[in-house]
Amino acid sequence: MSKKTLIIGAGGVGNVVAFKCAMNVETFGEITLASRTVSKCDVIAANIKEKVGVHIATAKVDADSVPELVELIERFQVDIVINVALPYQDLTIMDACTQTGVDYLDTANYEHPDTAKFEYKEQWERDGQFKYAEIMGLLGSGFDPGVTNVFCAYAQKHYFDEIHSIDILDCNAGDHGYPFATNFNPEINLREVSAKGRYWENGEWIETDPMEIKQVWDYPEVGPKDSYLLYHEEMESLVKHIKGLKRIRFFMTFGESYLTHMKCLENVGMLGIKEVEHKGMKIVPMEFLATLLPDPASLGPRTKGKTNIGVFAKGIKDGQEKTVYIYQITDHESCYAEVLSQGVSYTTGVPAMIGAKLMLEGKWQAKGVHNMEEFDPDPFMDELMKQGLPWKVMELEGSATREVK
Ligand code: NDP
Repeated sequence: MSKKTLIIGAGGVGNVVAFKCAMNVETFGEITLASRTVSKCDVIAANIKEKVGVHIATAKVDADSVPELVELIERFQVDIVINVALPYQDLTIMDACTQTGVDYLDTANYEHPDTAKFEYKEQWERDGQFKYAEIMGLLGSGFDPGVTNVFCAYAQKHYFDEIHSIDILDCNAGDHGYPFATNFNPEINLREVSAKGRYWENGEWIETDPMEIKQVWDYPEVGPKDSYLLYHEEMESLVKHIKGLKRIRFFMTFGESYLTHMKCLENVGMLGIKEVEHKGMKIVPMEFLATLLPDPASLGPRTKGKTNIGVFAKGIKDGQEKTVYIYQITDHESCYAEVLSQGVSYTTGVPAMIGAKLMLEGKWQAKGVHNMEEFDPDPFMDELMKQGLPWKVMELEGSATREVK
């Protein structure tokens, strides 16, 4: 019987998910794209009709409201909800899924709008409700989190008896030509990079000041780039699921200009998330800044260059030390040519579609709330190859590194 799919959120990532589901219409069946601003859904639907020849329906929804979501899900009788709105909406959408008995997938873990802190606690706590409703929730099916978790599971399955250290390396060497812009939702992006860093070693989380630890890593097809240690959400689940792990860190590349702009904005209070009074009105500086910055969806036609995101793992196989680097390179301009979007939205949206595809096909199915590395990585890795995100594996001798000293 034909399936029915609901995508919530019509931003940069929602555009890619809608395109890619339409390109796999035999799995996703009848597709509906719903968001707060329905005109954005209509533009995406028209582009899909023109480029892919598939009709998708559109709808308006306030995803902060569980009753509105329940009404929408019941109206369209969907089999799965793909949440690519903002992390603030994760819990309401999950609750609407348990009320209606429909599977759930997202790409970023829950954040409360008033606290710049993200963790899986509230989502993992819904595991019992998901099991009781006999539905599945797949958390973090983007690139990082998402593909990076699957790369770790793949390394564990095929290359190691035990993985001792993991460095997740996220490089965006794209250039959009603006002095300052963010590649995905500005508020979420700036909250993430201005927060304290954190990594995990020998069973403990170690906190660092924002951007305190810098290393230069040599990225294949991109070259050496300044990379800064950040806290990133996939580490929270990977420390639970990867055998023998002693350390895990996450690095992201930033250019001088980006960091100087960010420091300046921070110094003048523009990254604040608490309300301030302005001429009798209450405004949140970060929200106002997000209004001023270019819409990430508008970067598509201007962005040139590549992304390279991967996992650098060291460990033991048959008693020997070994190092494996699994990575994926995406070209921003090719993404635009295919789905009218830049590479960061593309690398997030394609894995969201793949996660949902495996769920609908029953290849990844388990009741309750799950992270990506809990499933067999092989079907996901096969889909990455077929759906536009081909990856490579580099096997290195002993404890080799690509860090440039
Ligand atoms: P955008 O800001 O471009 O889009 C977000 C969309 O959600 C907008 O269309 C917005 O509506 C809609 N939205 C916001 N609030 C509501 C609401 N209350 N009800 C209904 N719709 C709402 O963000 P992105 O597309 O860049 O990012 C989408 C998600 O992907 C985010 O959660 C982000 O954290 C995640 N992400 C994950 C990555 C990964 O690798 N795992 C990487 C990059 C992003 P409106 O148009 O009205 O503003």
